[in-house]
Order: sequence, then structure tokens, then C-alpha cells
Amino acid sequence: MVVVMKRDASKEELNRVIRYIKSYCPDSFVSVGDERIVINIIGDERKIDFDMLSGMEGVEKAIPILKPYKLASREYKQEDTVIKVGGIEIGGKEPVFIAGPCSIESEYQIMRIAEEVKEAGAHILRGGAFKPRTSPYSFCGLGMYGVELLAKAGEEFDMPVITEVMDPGDAIAISEYADILQVGARNMKNYSLLRKLAEIKKPVLLKRGEAAKIDEWLMAAEYMLLGKNGEGNEDVILCERGIRTFEDYTRNTFDIVAISVAKAESHLPVIADPSHATGKRELVYSASIAAIAAGADGLMIEVHYDPDKAYSDGAQSITPRQLKEVISKSKEIYHAVR
Ligand code: PEP
Ligand code: MN
Repeated sequence: MVVVMKRDASKEELNRVIRYIKSYCPDSFVSVGDERIVINIIGDERKIDFDMLSGMEGVEKAIPILKPYKLASREYKQEDTVIKVGGIEIGGKEPVFIAGPCSIESEYQIMRIAEEVKEAGAHILRGGAFKPRTSPYSFCGLGMYGVELLAKAGEEFDMPVITEVMDPGDAIAISEYADILQVGARNMKNYSLLRKLAEIKKPVLLKRGEAAKIDEWLMAAEYMLLGKNGEGNEDVILCERGIRTFEDYTRNTFDIVAISVAKAESHLPVIADPSHATGKRELVYSASIAAIAAGADGLMIEVHYDPDKAYSDGAQSITPRQLKEVISKSKEIYHAVR
């Protein structure tokens, strides 16, 4: 349950409500938002008298939350969360396009791709430096040097940047360079990493795990929203990137309806990744359009000027020219369906 206080509730009224709640549920906590004060009841709520609580002085309403994810749910917050990064709004009134290589390979490569994706209309530059590869013999990224190159390219072309964090121990160092931190599909259930990112006040893009149910994905988001005693990270972006099924024509099975479900169940922005969802560059265009039609707030797409020579994920990378077509059609669809 959450309790929303009236805008003009006095300090005494607030304290009385907190005292009553904490006498039964001592782990409950108060969130002071820009517009309202909310008390999140944590623990065995059955002992709390709902009618009495709803009628207490200063209480606007008490909302029972039936979902296991509270802070991520639409029950908790009805209006869409809009996350501001640089001058860009994720989850706002325009679709957002994140593009760049799977891996940062060299200064030349990331600079050239940054320039070309910017020209194609992308808003945010992506690039992996700590790569979670299936084989340890594959290219595993340039590490911190790669993160520095990404930040340099972002600065040069005036684009916020996003990169993956694999190890909680690297999170602070990476957050000094990146505008958005990415949790990869393989790490969606790395709860130590999620807890660490809850402490860092930088937006996080949380990919859905390869075999994660939608509610497990939202619970992973909850870890970051909650943090320690409710002082978590409010800026969580969900990213659908396909799941493992028996079908192996595509790299993953793009769970398009998961986008609509996540938008209905949660107030958090939802981005779709048609690159990892399909694994095939010829499917990226149609998958992008389908994702936008399903309600995605934007797309994250792997782009390379010479996809066949990419160090990783070349088969699913498109060229900057193709990106331009995807962006232009996606914008049209976005406005047509809303
Ligand atoms: C990536 O974005 O390059 C990546 C590794 O994605 P995922 O975690 O979805 O496999
Ligand atoms: Mn990739």
C-alpha cells in the first residue's frame, strides 16, 4: 500500500501518519517528491486498518498495490516517467533513438560512427567497452579506454552516451564518463549490480534477461527504484531485447507484446532493441517499426559503417544510411499510433 499525503498536510499530520504506519510496519519509508509526499508501506500490511488510515488528517488517499513490484507499477504512479538526459527526454512526446556500434573498436571507429549516426538523426550514442561475450576468446571490449573514447565522441558530436556496466566495482568509474548505464540481459538478475546502480544517480537502461519473465524484469527494476530504504534511483529505462525460445531462425524471439505489457504495467519508459532481438540486419527495419507500433518510447540499434568487419554483432548491425530510414519511418509510425 502507498499513502499519498495532501499537498497542504502539516508536519504534525505527516508525523502522526508515519507513527501509526511504523508501529506495524517499521521498514516503511517516506518519499518526498516535487509535487507530493508519499509513504511506502513495507511489511505485513494486514495489520493496518485501511479505512482508518484513509480517514486520517492530512491523508489524500491510500492506494492498495497488489503487484509484487510497487514502485515500478502504474498503480503507484499513473503518469509516464520522463527521464531527461542532456536535452533529451526519454518517455516524453517524441521517440528517442539510441545508436552506435556493438563494441567500441578504436578512436577512428567511434568518432566516425558518432558523426554518421548523429547525421542520421540518432539522439544518444551507444558503444560497448565491457562486453559480456559467450566465448572468452571473442573480443571482450576495450574496457575503461573504450569508455573514455565513447565519452570523447559524445562530447565531440554533442550526444549523451550509454555503455554497459558488468561489474559493480566498475560502476562508479564508468558513471563518470557515461550519461546512461546499461545493464545487459545476462546481468538482469545480478542483484549486487542492481543494488550498486541504485546508489548512483545516473539513469540506467535495464535489459530484459534472456529467460526472464516480464514480472522478473520489473522486479529487477524495483531493486534500483527502491535502493536502500527507498533512496533508490528513479531513472530506470526498460529495454526489451528478445528472449530465448525454441525458435532459432532469429537470434532471440522478439517479444513485441512485452513492450505493450511493460507500458501498461509500469510508468517507466520502454525502449526496444531490434538488433539483439533478431540478430539479423535485414529484420531490423520491420522489427523497429513493430516495436514503435507496440508502444516503445524509442529504439536502441547497432550501427556500423562496415558491418561485416565489426568486431562483434556485425550480422545484426545496420549502416548509418539504413538507420536514417528506420528513424524516419519510426517517427511516422510513432505519431500515427498515438
Ligand atoms: C549489447 O547491447 O551489446 C548487449 C550485449 O546486449 P544484450 O545484453 O541485450 O545481449
Ligand atoms: Mn551487441
